[in-house]
Amino acid sequence: MHLCGLPREQKLLLPEAVEDYIATDSPVRFLDAFVGSLDLRALGFAKAVAASTGRPPYDPGDLLRLYIYGYLHRLRSSRLLEKECTRNLEVIWLLRTLKPDFKTIADFRRDHKKALLQTCREFTLLCKKLQLFGNELVAIDGSKFKAVNSKDRNYNEKKLSELIAGIEARIKTYLTELDDCDQLAEPLPNALTRQQLMEKIAELKERQGDYEELRSQLDEEDKQISTTDPDAKLMHTRDGAQVCYNVQSAVDAKHKLIVAHEVVNEATDVQQLSTMARAAKEVLGVCQLNVVADKGYYNNATVQHCTENGITPYMEKTDTSANTKRGLYGKSKFTFDAHKDVYLCPGEKALTYRFSTFEKKRELRYYRATGCKTCALKKQCTRNKANRTITREENEALMEAMAQRVKNNGQIMKSRKAIVEHPFGTIKRAMNAGYFLCKRLAGVGAEMSLTVLAYNLKRVLNIVSFDDLIKAVAVKG
Ligand code: SF4
Repeated sequence: MHLCGLPREQKLLLPEAVEDYIATDSPVRFLDAFVGSLDLRALGFAKAVAASTGRPPYDPGDLLRLYIYGYLHRLRSSRLLEKECTRNLEVIWLLRTLKPDFKTIADFRRDHKKALLQTCREFTLLCKKLQLFGNELVAIDGSKFKAVNSKDRNYNEKKLSELIAGIEARIKTYLTELDDCDQLAEPLPNALTRQQLMEKIAELKERQGDYEELRSQLDEEDKQISTTDPDAKLMHTRDGAQVCYNVQSAVDAKHKLIVAHEVVNEATDVQQLSTMARAAKEVLGVCQLNVVADKGYYNNATVQHCTENGITPYMEKTDTSANTKRGLYGKSKFTFDAHKDVYLCPGEKALTYRFSTFEKKRELRYYRATGCKTCALKKQCTRNKANRTITREENEALMEAMAQRVKNNGQIMKSRKAIVEHPFGTIKRAMNAGYFLCKRLAGVGAEMSLTVLAYNLKRVLNIVSFDDLIKAVAVKG
């Protein structure tokens, strides 16, 4: 025999108030208190103060509560949130039985992009107040999030040229058929009529015009265009090329909370280190900060920028040397002697400074050995007939100092993955938020702010007791 529920017609003595259904330490009560503690007007929410005349609007605090609750529970679309307002007791409690329609819900997210970003920041500041940040080490990483733009609707020069050539070939075929049609007294069985051929040609010409128009609009830099979401770009991901945004995050090592985030549409991370590190340092309010990132961030200029701003970066270098690839001595086999301004080669000979060139206003110094022709190690060192040359960038001393730090602090390098991959793993898998629902950089930025807020909130609810959280928002400021 199975367990049986009660007959549906039976009268029940259910609690009379919605309040009675929500546990006294339910996370939803903290969410409510957190939003209640915010100065919504100062954060930029419209209608934070209702006008005395006209139809009363929804309180932005209620719609904000609904969105934070939704992002916390894998409910991100406005239609899903609309449904929850009628069937989910926690939402009914949170919104005090209000039932905004999906358009009102969607408009709220669309109209408050900056305010949502500020709200996410407010929660980060609350984490800071609760001393949840270690303030010593931050790991920076980027991950690709799918945009609302299929691969078919992303075009580059090659794809457009192929499409246009394909259309031209098809028009040519139809024109030949049209000629045949004109010459034959009786149309061939199953052949298209003259009228049908004309229509097909007109349709193809229209499409050809559209592709040519797209070709004229190709992005100056990376020569691509996305037609559904023009800010999204084709990027390489683990699942192959996808139209994406690149989400950058700076994660504090103590509790793996996200300190700062940003959505960019650059396919690589190489320019992102100093921007993210400075954003994290500003939020933490510290004078000095260590940041660790993977090889994809390695870039002389950003390391210099970090160092000038009280940030100590830790990154390994990818050996891109053509010589290493050929099995010859790469630059890492040469030691720089700053005192004598020479490089020492594996044959213990000095490569002395010869001349400089300037590329993008940066000095590149050239050092050259002597007597390579007669060196016993020449076969392992260089294929050139001339003496071996090594170049040195203006700020290479900073990179050498960083290489030494990386060598001496294996623990920091090992911790990187564990720190930074936790948030992205949780966001993409547990929260199912590895793709965007909104378009354009500002829209996806607002969406990411809600996602980051929900992730941090999830973490904090596991770290801090309910009572302490309520106390923290009650004495906010
Ligand atoms: S080939 Fe030249 S640079 Fe290379 S090890 Fe010999 S002397 Fe040094």
